[in-house]
Amino acid sequence: MATAPQPEILTAFEAAKGFMPVDEGLALYAAAVEAGALGLPLLEVGTYCGRSTVLVADAARAAGVTALTVDHHRGSEEQQPGWDYHDPETVDPEVGLMDTLPTFRRTLFKAGLEEQVIALVGRSPQVAAVWGGPLGFVFIDGGHTDEHATADYEGWAPHIADGGLLAIHDVFPDPKDEFTGQAPYRIYLRALASGAFTETTATGSLRVLRRTGAGI
Ligand code: SAH
Ligand code: MG
Repeated sequence: MATAPQPEILTAFEAAKGFMPVDEGLALYAAAVEAGALGLPLLEVGTYCGRSTVLVADAARAAGVTALTVDHHRGSEEQQPGWDYHDPETVDPEVGLMDTLPTFRRTLFKAGLEEQVIALVGRSPQVAAVWGGPLGFVFIDGGHTDEHATADYEGWAPHIADGGLLAIHDVFPDPKDEFTGQAPYRIYLRALASGAFTETTATGSLRVLRRTGAGI
């Protein structure tokens, strides 16, 4: 059986605001634990309020590595006021824009995982451009436009070490199943077509691929 999180971690994950279903979260956790064995940092793109971060952070703790999570915390297109995935509680009333950073910090604090995580607050391509080191795990769950998903793939996938894992969320091969577009599906196809990645598991809309070749 795949490695499962302790009950208190699962409880913290389920209590957190966010978009990761439990079955996919368990698959994400198992992949992160496996990738942690490489002894390299685990990175997530798309922190939001920290729901999936709890799992990546606990896997990092188990492996004795650091988890990194990237987000500008201003929300994706579909999370803005007036759109389907908007949550009014995520708006900073003083600034009048979304700010999910405070909720994220509460989520991590409640899960007892603050020390495991480095939060990178900024635009994913900008952070990727200054990132130099190898990563054991990259989880792409950021913006769903082609521009954002492609930039996440091109920015972060090159850093995945040999044998490391690439997880992609919201992969919907059938257009009738998707709610926010098929850009994640397109980067998944691109990763497979590159010859650098081989699929290991598929759970709901989560795909996990292993680096088995060079390049992206
Ligand atoms: N992983 C989360 C959900 C992430 S939602 C969970 O489990 O609930 C997607 C997030 O990606 C949003 O918080 C949004 O602010 C962020 N995002 C979208 N485009 C981004 C970009 N280009 N750079 C950084 N963050 C981005
Ligand atoms: Mg998602």
